[in-house]
Amino acid sequence: MQQTWEVTFSESEKKAILNAYRRLLRACADFLDKKGRAEVRKAFRFALEQHGATRRRTGEPYILHPIAVALILVREIGLRDKYAVMAALLHDVVEDTDTEIETLRWEFGDTVGHLVEALTKITRVQSPLDSVQAETFRKILLTMADDIRVALIKLADRLHNLRTLTGMKPEKQAKILAETEFIYVPIAHRLGLYPIKSEMEDLILRYREPEVYAELERKLQETARERERYIQRFIQPIEEKLKKEIGVPYKIESRVKSISSIYHKMRRQGVPFEEVYDIFAVRIILDSPIETEKADCWRTYSIVTSLYRPNLSRLRDWISQPRPTGYEALHITVMGPEGKWVEVQIRSRRMHEAAEYGLVAHWRYKSTQNGHPSAYDEALERWLNRIRSLLENPDLSSIDLLHELHPDIAHDEVYVFTPKGELKVLPAGATALDFAYEIHSEIGRHAIAAKVNGRPVLLNYVLQNADQVEIITSERAEPTEEQLSFVKTGRARLKIREYLKQQRKQAMEKGRQIFEWRLRHLGIRPEDPVIRELLWYLRLPSLEELWYRLGTHTLDLGQIQDFIRLKRLSQGTTPLIDQLSQQLGLLSGALEVGYPEEKHTYAPCCYPIPFDSIMGYMTAEGLVIHRTTCREIQRLLSLDSAKVKPLRWAPTPQKPFLAALLLEGEDRQGMLLDIVKVISLKKNKNIRSIRIEGQASYFKGIIELYVYNEPELLSLIKALGEVRGLLKIERYQAQLNA
Ligand code: MN
Repeated sequence: MQQTWEVTFSESEKKAILNAYRRLLRACADFLDKKGRAEVRKAFRFALEQHGATRRRTGEPYILHPIAVALILVREIGLRDKYAVMAALLHDVVEDTDTEIETLRWEFGDTVGHLVEALTKITRVQSPLDSVQAETFRKILLTMADDIRVALIKLADRLHNLRTLTGMKPEKQAKILAETEFIYVPIAHRLGLYPIKSEMEDLILRYREPEVYAELERKLQETARERERYIQRFIQPIEEKLKKEIGVPYKIESRVKSISSIYHKMRRQGVPFEEVYDIFAVRIILDSPIETEKADCWRTYSIVTSLYRPNLSRLRDWISQPRPTGYEALHITVMGPEGKWVEVQIRSRRMHEAAEYGLVAHWRYKSTQNGHPSAYDEALERWLNRIRSLLENPDLSSIDLLHELHPDIAHDEVYVFTPKGELKVLPAGATALDFAYEIHSEIGRHAIAAKVNGRPVLLNYVLQNADQVEIITSERAEPTEEQLSFVKTGRARLKIREYLKQQRKQAMEKGRQIFEWRLRHLGIRPEDPVIRELLWYLRLPSLEELWYRLGTHTLDLGQIQDFIRLKRLSQGTTPLIDQLSQQLGLLSGALEVGYPEEKHTYAPCCYPIPFDSIMGYMTAEGLVIHRTTCREIQRLLSLDSAKVKPLRWAPTPQKPFLAALLLEGEDRQGMLLDIVKVISLKKNKNIRSIRIEGQASYFKGIIELYVYNEPELLSLIKALGEVRGLLKIERYQAQLNA
């Protein structure tokens, strides 16, 4: 048995309920007749009895909520409609009490019954735990488009819920915020209810980022007095002129931008609060009759711009051409005192009320201004019709609806769905991998591929609207450097970077331990100059890089062994080097090519020379030796890896090897001569062939020559670097004939 409110509520609570109800009646005074007042009273008594002793999460009597919703509807949204007020008072009784919809129809008539039924339907499709679902969205719109009053009551309900959101569980809070952002804010915008829209946006920011919100609020307060003085200084000359020249009553007000719009501006432009210049706008509202309102607005425009220099690129004429939402006004930005830009909005009272109350204002004007055709009316009708026809088309996805509501952002965002139909919004150009990170950073980290609408795609697949995306993961998958080149969202980029950094640190530490352990065994101190030489030989920029390569197995100790051999070849035997090579030789068990003995040839595609890292390919004629980096050996490796053997150079007497260089640069006179001079005179090397292809003023050449080993070739490359106009010098590698 339900407890009655009379027993449960304290005297002060009863008083609060009564006061709230009286406030509502006062707000309705100018459109309710005696009979209407009685009906509203009946609805109030009914809701009060039905909600009984129930309390809201905030602790206050539940009935205060429907009263507040009705009050927002009348006062803030401006809907002056008896049935809507009654429906607002009763909007939760079917959902929250055991009242049947039939009872409401019987007691309050079909209109109220129908409105409450629609509102109940909306509450029911919004399942309490899931986030915004495409299908929900469609159903909500469908219900709202049926009778615009449903949308307005729902907006009032949502606004009050947002205002009293504290004390709710974080998950539920987040869900309400997301829903508001995706459904109700756009609807408020489309209906031209700008104050409702910006309050919702502010509340979303306040709950989501309380510190940011509080900080901005504080800054706005701190600068309030200064701003007020400035506005007075700005307005004064305008007022003097308006008084003399305009001849209709007017009002000037100044309005500070909403906190969320300041915040978005800061983020969009990447500037601090202090640099958002148009924090406030000055609004001039003219009490003009409808016949002269446009002319009066333009006269006011010329007064303002005669006083302050306008920025013409920021003139917005929504008088000649109202916005699709029906918004009418003139906006200009002018240079005020102290060189500050100030936005001025000029509109007639009719335009102003339309902007504040949206379509509702129009209904009011329709009855008082003997029905002039309003651009606003037509635009709204067009929009509602479009929504209705979209909804009637069963083939259309919810995405089309979403675009209908988000026209401003649709071009730089992409809307996609999870396998469960949950909506995700990503920046346009985002890839499957961005989506993975959007779901969860662990999913992003282990992602290896994706399925889009059931079809397998790579992680760099660019998402399209309405894609349904499923991420395929593997425990062994890890973020890679390459992924950074295609992810679009900051979140994915950050996570991948973090991971790579972490990996690099770990690999370096591992490599450092391997390296230092070896050095200790060899009796070499870490600061020994031989280490510098080793780095030069391996062409590594730093010791950290060497650690990293060892740690990631992209450099093996065999290459260090090569270096030791080289030292012995070029400098003769020293006890230290001997010891070094012996130790390393013991540690490495790879096959060695003693080239005078074994039957082998050197591949003509990559010109391997001593101390290159090499591999051999077994053929009927013997072993063909390639550089490890050669594209041909890599191709063979992928085709027939059993025939590919890793090899090392064996210590041998010196003999010349054929190498090839690829040179590119400016085709100036004497270029070839300069190149030949360096190779044969300065470095004393034999050239075997020169092949030049001129391409207008650019030349490309391949030079074959003989050297003993790689360090020699490197030193030649260094010397060629001095030749003027030579832009590219590298080891030649034949292209594969694909
Ligand atoms: Mn409610």
